[in-house]
Amino acid sequence: MELKNNALFKETCFIGGKWIESDSGEKIKVDNPANGEIIGEVPKCSTSETQKAIQEAQAVFPSWRDKTAKERSIILQKWARLIEANADDLAKIMTIEQGKPLAEAKGEILMGVTYIDFYAEEGKRVYGDIIPDPMPDRRIVVIKQPVGVVGAITPWNFPSTMITRKCAPALAVGCTVVIKPASQTPYSALALGVLAKEAGFPDGVMNIITGSANAIGKELTENPLVRKISFTGSTEVGKILLQQSASTVKKVSMELGGHAPFVVFDDADLDEAVTGAMQSKFRNSGQTCICANRIFVHEKVYDEFLNKFINEVNKIKVGNGLEEGIVSGPLIDQLSLMKVHDQVKDAVNQGAKIAVGGDVHSLGGNFYQPTVLSNVTTKAKITYEETFGPVAPLYKFSSDEEVIKMANDTPYGLASYFYSRDIGRIWRVAEALEYGMVGVNTGLTTKAEIPFGGVKESGLGREGSKYGLDDYLNIKYISMAGI
Ligand code: NAP
Repeated sequence: MELKNNALFKETCFIGGKWIESDSGEKIKVDNPANGEIIGEVPKCSTSETQKAIQEAQAVFPSWRDKTAKERSIILQKWARLIEANADDLAKIMTIEQGKPLAEAKGEILMGVTYIDFYAEEGKRVYGDIIPDPMPDRRIVVIKQPVGVVGAITPWNFPSTMITRKCAPALAVGCTVVIKPASQTPYSALALGVLAKEAGFPDGVMNIITGSANAIGKELTENPLVRKISFTGSTEVGKILLQQSASTVKKVSMELGGHAPFVVFDDADLDEAVTGAMQSKFRNSGQTCICANRIFVHEKVYDEFLNKFINEVNKIKVGNGLEEGIVSGPLIDQLSLMKVHDQVKDAVNQGAKIAVGGDVHSLGGNFYQPTVLSNVTTKAKITYEETFGPVAPLYKFSSDEEVIKMANDTPYGLASYFYSRDIGRIWRVAEALEYGMVGVNTGLTTKAEIPFGGVKESGLGREGSKYGLDDYLNIKYISMAGI
């Protein structure tokens, strides 16, 4: 991999400020999803290395906690500026290990920086309360304190922002972290570690450990020194981690799967709706938890929307994300591709029509054709299973009540979107959708300032915004008597 700053490409884990191999010497191979080439190998760490990382994080916790918020903020801001300065290299690393186009990868890197900048400031505003006491000689004081060591487990679809979105608030308020990145995208995480060291975080404040998900996950959830687990990934794994965390009653944040509805009402601006659907559906080749996975269009505007949408989808250029002009890269692996293709075949068997694509791409490997399915029935698997690929299923509806029922008919509750110009309908529908996030007349909702998170089986807790700090803080009440 040719980089301007070759030091960013690390193939060892980061524990207590040192770069280390696994105790067993075992490795995990990492490949490029665009061509299957092996990029390199990272340590396959297990329980013992996780324990070391936790001990390092615990040892430095009191001194990191006791720094002022401003002192921590200065280091966080230095980290942010270093990430910005190395954004081109970081984007290249991400495209090579994850597949997303270079411009999108750079966008993710810079989005990650916004979380650090936001929390470098917000960490200074961890306010408490003084509550009037019913007894005259007493005062009720409430303070907030960092929870302690945080275990952060992140997925491959956003290898950089999922780390900064957890670490920035945690570090800003005085917690220390042990990060376990996805095995398919460890290099983006390790590169962030290189820059964290350069920024001046004391040794042990941030630790990054690659390897066996089961062993590392079990230690992070069951070790009593870890006081908080922040996980982003599938609902299936989230449930395992919740069960494991119960043994030590940890605080948990779970950013899990989604199956977002995208509703186009008959009073919508259809061009805007098509733009929103394109942004929401096809970003990261449809591999995001907030992708428009079920597109419901009112029967009066269905044909017009479908034609406009098809026009745009036909323009998507698929290929290796390092090449100029590519807007859609490969899927992460063959398993993902097979799952997507299976959902498409099943939908067709259940009566759907293929309007665009519908098959593996002629480029082969992990590439799938951007696909639009029309007249999808509610019997199809794609209606209920989370889709993680460039497939847009369209459904027709005729009334607000009907579409709200369909939109909510899922165990997930992360993101939702709808397009309408009617202010009364906007309020009614926004309030009726059982989701943590609602985009009204927009397909892009993520930014550092918003409370990102879901309800139902999409998770617990919020990331981003002032609310994102609460997940890393304990509330302490102090009763002052004898005044
Ligand atoms: P995943 O299979 O759940 O993996 C996520 C992370 O968990 C990886 O680091 C993985 O490690 C680790 N892991 C797997 N099994 C584990 C275990 N038993 N104990 C501890 N850790 C374990 O999810 P994914 O396929 O990478 O990511 C896609 C999923 O993430 C989708 O469902 C998507 O909706 C969700 N997601 C949610 C959000 C959100 O904010 N709500 C954001 C992005 C993605 P290995 O890589 O080593 O297996």
